[in-house]
Amino acid sequence: MYFTDAHEELRLHIRKFLASEVQPHLEEWEEKTFPDSIFKRFGELGFLGLRYPPEYGGQGGDYFSAVVLSEEMARAGLGGLGMAVDVQTEMATPPVFKFGTEEQKRKWVVPAIRGEHIAALAITEPDAGSDVAGITTVARRDGDHFIVNGRKIFITSGARCHWALVVTKTDRERGHKGYNLLVIEKGTPGFQVTRTLKKLGMHSSDTAELLFEECRVPVANLIGDEGDGFKNLMWELQGERMIAAAGAIAGAQRIFEYTMDYAQNRQAFGQPISQFQVIKHRLVDMGTKIAAVQAFVYQTAAQWDKGEYPVREISQSKLLATQVACEVADDAIQILGGHGYMHEFPVERAWRNARLGRIGAGSDEIMKEIIAKTYGL
Ligand SMILES: Cc1cc2nc3c(=O)[nH]c(=O)nc-3n(C[C@H](O)[C@H](O)[C@H](O)COP(=O)(O)OP(=O)(O)OC[C@H]3O[C@@H](n4cnc5c(N)ncnc54)[C@H](O)[C@@H]3O)c2cc1C
Repeated sequence: MYFTDAHEELRLHIRKFLASEVQPHLEEWEEKTFPDSIFKRFGELGFLGLRYPPEYGGQGGDYFSAVVLSEEMARAGLGGLGMAVDVQTEMATPPVFKFGTEEQKRKWVVPAIRGEHIAALAITEPDAGSDVAGITTVARRDGDHFIVNGRKIFITSGARCHWALVVTKTDRERGHKGYNLLVIEKGTPGFQVTRTLKKLGMHSSDTAELLFEECRVPVANLIGDEGDGFKNLMWELQGERMIAAAGAIAGAQRIFEYTMDYAQNRQAFGQPISQFQVIKHRLVDMGTKIAAVQAFVYQTAAQWDKGEYPVREISQSKLLATQVACEVADDAIQILGGHGYMHEFPVERAWRNARLGRIGAGSDEIMKEIIAKTYGL
């Protein structure tokens, strides 16, 4: 219904690439994080610009091309690498492309599409995550520059990025009109990576804390009109949540299929464990939840693809898909028993990785607050 022959061809192309050039290294990259060179390969194959126009080096595809990439990365169990690719293609570059000038697109989006640049998006701060309006990173205007001071935390690809799209506050008095999005390039004096953080899952990605101290950023790096940063960020967050939903439910499907197969082959008391009604019903519940949420995610993605702005449905998709991914991973561990708890079986990692979905890109509680507002509550 949503995927054409071209999407299916793209799917096979991505699947083949991941199987030959990525999956053999996943174990090693869980330990050491992935090498930057893999972004170059994604870029060479066109996977970092699926939705961007050909004149910028993109493939000119629709939103479902991005969904295909996200689904295939989830299907291949990419975890942290998949998250870093999503940050590049669906979070950091889209605002620069949508709100940036021609020169800015050429300077930052084109190299990111080629995989020559790795991009990060820096919103969260030690004292402000869900409460985006509470950020305190300040960009003070000084002639042709902004002087940026502040700290960002939990930034995916923060350590390795060539540039970060940084959310700053310029004028406390102007409320939501006081925010700006700035591209800050690595190497700009005053931009430091203060540490990388150890975390529960998504081990192949780096998650960094960034410090900006009297960091002089040219006014030419301002993305969008001055004072529109908050509004433009709200648009970016819709794309971030949509792709998070697509990836999460595809990840759940992968774990469901794996668990079905396991349960049909694992013997206990003289029969496959899938024959115990309690396990059979658990599997049915897993598959049923995935099917329902998957349909809703596709329906919402189709709205987003048409240029609609379905904030309620995107928030509902993100909320449901990430919750189902966690529930399915947890059920999978139960069905696999002790094997499910072991590192060498994929459900243990899926369980750890899935947990992030209910926190990042807006937590469950924030999704519910947004949905409540759309009901007038
Ligand atoms: C691995 C990882 C990667 C990340 N990558 C990035 C990145 O690349 N860029 C980036 O900017 N950020 C990133 N983040 C940050 C992420 O988006 C935030 O962690 C998330 O938005 C939550 O913010 P917080 O951690 O400050 O929690 P808090 O905002 O402190 O929330 C704590 C708890 O309070 C609840 N809460 C807060 N406000 C309300 C409310 N109004 N009503 C009800 N409950 C509420 C929350 O739901 C949560 O349960 C990443 C985080 C992780 C863990």
